[in-house]
Amino acid sequence: MVFGAIEAGGTKFVCAIGDKNLNIEKRASFPTTTPEETMNLVIAFFNDYQTELESIGVGSFGPIDVQQDSSTYGYITSTPKSGWQDFDFVGSLKKHFDVPVAWTTDVNAAAYGEYVCGEGRGKNSVVYYTIGTGIGGGAIQKGEFIEGFSHPEMGHMLVVPHERDSFQGNCPFHKNCLEGMAAGPAIEARTGRKGQDISETDTVWESEAFYIAQCVYNTTLILSPDVIILGGGVMQQSHMVERVRAAFHSLMKNYVRTPEMKNYIVTPSLKNNAGVIGCLALAKKEI
Ligand code: ADP
Ligand code: ZN
Repeated sequence: MVFGAIEAGGTKFVCAIGDKNLNIEKRASFPTTTPEETMNLVIAFFNDYQTELESIGVGSFGPIDVQQDSSTYGYITSTPKSGWQDFDFVGSLKKHFDVPVAWTTDVNAAAYGEYVCGEGRGKNSVVYYTIGTGIGGGAIQKGEFIEGFSHPEMGHMLVVPHERDSFQGNCPFHKNCLEGMAAGPAIEARTGRKGQDISETDTVWESEAFYIAQCVYNTTLILSPDVIILGGGVMQQSHMVERVRAAFHSLMKNYVRTPEMKNYIVTPSLKNNAGVIGCLALAKKEI
């Protein structure tokens, strides 16, 4: 008995096979190209496990349709990623594998991984953000994703500009939303350098922390979760989490008594595996 995981990112796909304890037995990664080419690699990866495969968990880039009663449930919908608009992801899997498929966003899957066996373990309410090429957020309440007509799009919340930041924002929809101001490409547009190549002492990190702190502030006021987990490439700046805690403190001014900072604003303990482990856990939950 094994479970399948597909972490479908806009840049790369990670597929994995895991056992009932969510230990990863096999893993492969390949770039996201056309749906045909990419899905052929996915199908080839799981083909060897046809007889033992119980279910598959998918965490996909989006936007995606998560409404069970919709005619386009399981589709990637209005993505700007060329070739993937209106792609029937779950349908194309079901053609090859006659097993239950759990279907959610990539960030919800990472949130679930952390909820089951990372920073959110034993907690009722967990919010996870990824701050990378884009910014996305997922929220879990007592084991269920928070959603209504669709999944959340928290990465596009509006933020107030930092007083010393003249950058106008680069979100194609909203310009100066959180993603437009604080995702990796915004850092690069401002400085001409990739985040990983910028020194810890650069002033860009001050405004970066201010934007992420606004996100944590808004999240705190709206949901009062037990923990807010900040993942993604940009959070690999090891000084960033402490900067965000300090900027959050300045914004909140003790209006809300949150849990202790070191337990409240944290980075994912599963690191790059949060998404894959979350997909395995969702696959297991599906049966
Ligand atoms: P993706 O969002 O594409 O799945 P990542 O979460 O790794 O992948 O995010 C990639 C973005 O994060 C890029 O814009 C990259 O420049 C930035 N990034 C990656 N590593 C770092 C780092 N150590 N410090 C700051 N930014 C980084
Ligand atoms: Zn936006």
